[in-house]
Amino acid sequence: MRIGLGCDTHRLTEGRRLVLGGIEIEHTKGLLGHSDADALIHAVIDAVLGAAGLGDIGTLFPDTDMKYKDISSVVLLQEAGRRVREAGYEIVNIDTVIIAEKPKMAPYKALMAAKMAEALEIDPSQINVKAKTNEKMGFTGNEEGIETRAVALLN
Ligand code: MG
Repeated sequence: MRIGLGCDTHRLTEGRRLVLGGIEIEHTKGLLGHSDADALIHAVIDAVLGAAGLGDIGTLFPDTDMKYKDISSVVLLQEAGRRVREAGYEIVNIDTVIIAEKPKMAPYKALMAAKMAEALEIDPSQINVKAKTNEKMGFTGNEEGIETRAVALLN
């Protein structure tokens, strides 16, 4: 068994779509980034890569590479899952947290889990999405950005 940890932060800005866990979420702002800035998927990628000892998202998919400009992070997650399987591991489970003051994530959590499970070729029951606010404190609390965390267990 091997465990991996991932976290990510992206800035919220106007004029961008908000995509988390591969699901587009209705909101007045979106996350800024080279790809679609899906901070939840980025944390999950780092958790599974970390558990497999395969480095990190920035090394695998450099943001200096125009190939990844505005790419759907679901594609990156599929590739990370493929690398993990290729290295001889299977995912036992993944647990995640989104820290965002707004919007409410509850209606989207099951959709996100299903989408990420599909990309990783695992069952939705193997991935859990949680969400919380930061009680209006700090950069997540004042809606400057969204933070995510993920842990993955591989066998
Ligand atoms: Mg990121």
